[in-house]
Formats: sequence, C-alpha cells, structure tokens
Amino acid sequence: MILIRNVRLVDAMGERGPLDVLIGEGRILSLEGGEAKRVVDGTGCFLAPGFLDLHAHLREPGEEVKEDLFSGLLAAVRGGYTDLVSMPNTKPPVDTPEAVRALKEKAKALGLARLHPAAALTLGQEGKTLTPAGLLQEAGAVLLTDDGRTNEDAGVLAAGLLMAAPLGLPVAVHAEDAGLRRNGVMNDGPLADLLGLPGNPTEAEAARIARDLEVLRYALRRSPATPRLHVQHLSTKRGLELVREAKRAGLPVTAEATPHHLTLTEEALRTFDPLFKVAPPLRGEEDREALLEGLLDGTLDAIATDHAPHTLAEKEKDLLRAPFGIPSLEVAFPLLYTELHLKRGFPLRRLVELFTDGPRRVLGLPPLHLEEGTEASLVLLDPKERPVDPQGFASKARFSPWTGWRLGGWPVLTLVEGRIVHEALE
Ligand SMILES: [Zn+2]
Repeated sequence: MILIRNVRLVDAMGERGPLDVLIGEGRILSLEGGEAKRVVDGTGCFLAPGFLDLHAHLREPGEEVKEDLFSGLLAAVRGGYTDLVSMPNTKPPVDTPEAVRALKEKAKALGLARLHPAAALTLGQEGKTLTPAGLLQEAGAVLLTDDGRTNEDAGVLAAGLLMAAPLGLPVAVHAEDAGLRRNGVMNDGPLADLLGLPGNPTEAEAARIARDLEVLRYALRRSPATPRLHVQHLSTKRGLELVREAKRAGLPVTAEATPHHLTLTEEALRTFDPLFKVAPPLRGEEDREALLEGLLDGTLDAIATDHAPHTLAEKEKDLLRAPFGIPSLEVAFPLLYTELHLKRGFPLRRLVELFTDGPRRVLGLPPLHLEEGTEASLVLLDPKERPVDPQGFASKARFSPWTGWRLGGWPVLTLVEGRIVHEALE
C-alpha cells in the first residue's frame, strides 16, 4: 500500500484537493487517506492519471543502437507515460502478428510502461498490399499506420480504412504529399530561401490531409462500420482548419500535435543545427498559434511526442544529411506545463486531458479519472523548476532542442497498476 498525502488531483474532469490518496491492489482505494507502509508527501505536487503517448519510435527491432524497448520504455515512465504506442517503421517493419506479439511479450517482461504496438498498414510499409488487420489486432496491435512513410496510393488507404473499420482500429496517417515535400529539410518560405535550404511547404501537409479526408468520406459511405482516420503530427494552420471543418461535418477523424511543433518555430533553423530537423518541419509562428487554438477547441485530440531517437553521430551530420527527428518522451509534459500552462495560462485540466483521456479516446479506451476504484496508473508531478539536461536521459538519444530550458512539472513518481516504475522524489 502507498499513501500519497496532501496532494492536488488533476484529470480531464478538473482539479481538486489536496487529498490523501491511498493506493493498493493496483487501484485507488481511497481519497480520504488510510494506513500504508509507504507514505509519500505530495505537498505542492499534483497527481494525474498516467499519460498515453500515441506516437513513439522505439527502434526495436533492428536499430537498437538508437533506442530499444528497455531504454524507450524507461524514458516513457520517466516522462510520466504509463502507456505508449510504438511506431512500426522498424527494421524490418512490424507487419506480422508474430512481430506484434514479440514486442508485447518483451515489453511486458520489462515491467515499465505498457506497450501498445502499432502495426504497419501495408506489408513492409511499401504502400501496396494491406497487412492482415484482424490477426494483427488479435496479437495486440491497437493502430495501423505506415508512419515514417506517406501513403501515396489513395486506393490502398481507402481499402485499409474499410478493412480496419469493422475491427474498430484507427488508421493513422503521416500526411505529407511526397511530391510537394520533395527533399525539403525545413519549412518552405522566405527563411528557407534566405538560408539557402530546400523547403517543405505547408501545402504538402494540407493537400494530403484534404485528400485523406476525401478518402475517409468515401470509406464512410462504403462501410457499414465507422472507419476512423487519425492525422499524426499536425503542423500547419491550414491542415488544422481542414480537420476542424471535417470534425464539424461529423467525419470520424482525430488528430495529434507534437511538443516540438507547439513550442518551436522555423526560426530555430537559423542556427543550422540539425537538432531542429524534423518531419513535418517546424513551421512559422502563425502555424504554432493555430495549433494552440486547436488544442483548446478540440480540433486536436492529443499531444503525441513523435519521439524519434537517433545516434548523436548521425544527428551531428550537416543539416542536409542528418536524419529527421526529435526525442522528447522525458520532457514532453514539463515542457508544455511550463510553456503553455505557466507562461500562457493554458488550462491545466485540458493539458492533462491531452495526455490522458484525449489519446485514450483515439484508441477507443475508456477515460481514466482519479476516483476510488480507478486503476492506479498514475503520475505525480512536481512543479519545482529544473533545467533540461539530456545527459540524464534514459533514452539513448541524449540530445535535445530544449537543453537548458528551465521547466517545472517533472514526473517524480510513476505507477503502473499500483507498481512504482519510476521514482525521483527528493
Ligand atoms: Zn510521421
């Protein structure tokens, strides 16, 4: 039994407390205290449901030099995540039930965050032949996606949505038109021209989202079950507007945004530092502001990390040759707690929802609220400020575009079903 004393609670329903939370048998037993062997002083901290990340690249199998299940899932619990969806663009891609099962079993044995693998939508993520969705789901896959690649063939995406619909599986898309995106390494526009770097235009994302929404309309019309489209790492104002319109029209679409698109802009590329190279690229301030509005008005359902670890040697190549991607599992919540809630007054209740019930809804999971009887998958967050230090990351990617930023809201205790999986109490 664990007792967390004098702690404020925050979940998608709101804030309350301070209360004394008694945890045992994997559940919240009481919000009115009680006897426990272990007592944690929660004064000044707040307790939230464990976070769910819809989008993380853990690189196993095949690129364990960048990250593996152990380092990735340890980074997850240190970031307050109790549940995580791994992307299937590994080497080889996760496109068979055996591969899904192997990941699930290995992750379970580690006893850190719970792994919910995404499986490839097409064999080898080649965009041609659909994977066996039913068998993948039986093995534990919660989402189908060719993320890392774009779905160039609209017919294949339509068939994928039709196949996944009766299973209730969402299909997630990396929405960039490959032709418009070309070899862009940063946002297309005056700054890219000035720096002499190839640009990836906002229209590449918007055009692809517009097409995918039409594909969804078609699938919806042709399927007795509801097909569900999830737009990954939305980065543009125009893309956001398209999703907003579609939602208003009742289309079954959901969307996520990343910590980097919410806190950084293309201006960071002035340094020519490949740390800031990511796909889709960091955009302009207007796009960033639009995303913040989308978080508030419900156009965006979730904040998802797109945690994309690489070796430092690769990431230190020049901007044209370095790989795309930013690791963020360990800083995502403190970053947004500080930059959005503390600095801009973004409601804490909604921020926590974007890490918990929001992504849970995308996967069709029930909400997780802090009540007696609720599963004790929880995170204790400490508002005390400290700087980001990638040298202390559990992730193998020990670099960060936020190095030195002073943040509050660090996870100091993470529990999965009542078990302590991360502890950094003072
Ligand atoms: Zn992607």
